[in-house]
Amino acid sequence: MAKTLFADRMQRIKPSPSSAASQRARELKAAGRDIVSLTVGEPDFDTPAHIIEAAIIAMRAGQTRYTTVSGTNELKQAIIGKFQRENGISYAANEVMASTGAKQIIFNAFMSTVQSGDEVIIPAPYWVSYPDITLLAGGKPVQIDGRMESDFKLTPEALEAHITANTRWLVINAPGNPSGAVYSEAELLALAEVLRRHPRIWVLSDDIYEHICFDGQKLATLAAVAPDLKERILTVNGVSKAYAMTGWRLGYCGGPAALIKEMSKLQSQSTTNPNSIAQAATVAALEGPQDFLETLRSAYQRRRDIAIEMLGAVEGLQFSRPSGAFYVFVGCEGLIGRKTADGKVIESDRDLAEHLLEFGGVAVVHGAAFGLSPWFRISVATSDDVLRDGLSRIAKACAVLQP
Ligand code: PLP
Repeated sequence: MAKTLFADRMQRIKPSPSSAASQRARELKAAGRDIVSLTVGEPDFDTPAHIIEAAIIAMRAGQTRYTTVSGTNELKQAIIGKFQRENGISYAANEVMASTGAKQIIFNAFMSTVQSGDEVIIPAPYWVSYPDITLLAGGKPVQIDGRMESDFKLTPEALEAHITANTRWLVINAPGNPSGAVYSEAELLALAEVLRRHPRIWVLSDDIYEHICFDGQKLATLAAVAPDLKERILTVNGVSKAYAMTGWRLGYCGGPAALIKEMSKLQSQSTTNPNSIAQAATVAALEGPQDFLETLRSAYQRRRDIAIEMLGAVEGLQFSRPSGAFYVFVGCEGLIGRKTADGKVIESDRDLAEHLLEFGGVAVVHGAAFGLSPWFRISVATSDDVLRDGLSRIAKACAVLQP
């Protein structure tokens, strides 16, 4: 048999399905089709001016060289200050690091800890990259399906039932992409109770949507709620979503010094330090004026409200009210089995997403990409007008489906 040119590990992973959906929408638009894309996972705001200014000043001041692999001292101090001020977690300088996006933090963490056969518990629906990074590291993703009735949140019973001798990590992501779920302190304490019985398990708490919490809620994070578990928790965050800085590629974390040391070693053999200019900009983001956060948060909350009102009027769809992030995860079981005008049967969420795109001219990401079917995700990170247009296209495209 002919040998493939590419490494076996490449057979285990797939390109990000959400990026693929955005790309498809862009291609159709470029070909002249009238398409509204509700696929993107990034803020539709520009990076605040004072952050851009800090980057320009850094470049002019010659901060254009390699830095320490894990980040400059200034950045580490800013990260330590952020965790202390906003989360009440104390980290020392050797317990924090910065990488090229939160994605690289997660990559570093799993690649430096997950052995072949190790299991990573991932509550579904999940952000598309957790299972693939686990697979790349040689581990086994263990999915726990969430239920809409409990806002897709992991319960202590489900966690306990999925733990084995091989469990290495549990992933908690709140506000969740795509669910928008936020855990209360009591819910995290109940999970902590289970984790105390299983000392081998580490927890990756992905708090990247921390500042996008609705209805007066504030994010509770595990290392703050259960400080006795701090030595087993990697708290992940970044500036992409909070400060509209997705393109700058800067993520950071706090965790046990021994883990941070291994993650930095891995990073030293891949990308070295994160971009020096983005590091300076991140210091300005974390330490500068924070009023921008409220501007974004309230815009997303208003759009969430628009989305749930308009989707609520569409027969056949169901969803729970997101408490944060900028997505709505929509159930479409009620439309499965219906037919399009040309007689095609909608058999899956993929078929429905295809119909929404082809007939409705609106792009969404099908739920299987996030581990749950039949669902789809819409992003509300777009202007109110575009969002309304996209949602009314969804309504029209659903209405033409015949039982
Ligand atoms: N974690 C979650 C839940 C995300 O949705 C994303 C981006 O979509 C990331 C992490 C990665 O963020 P970054 O841009 O910092 O790599």
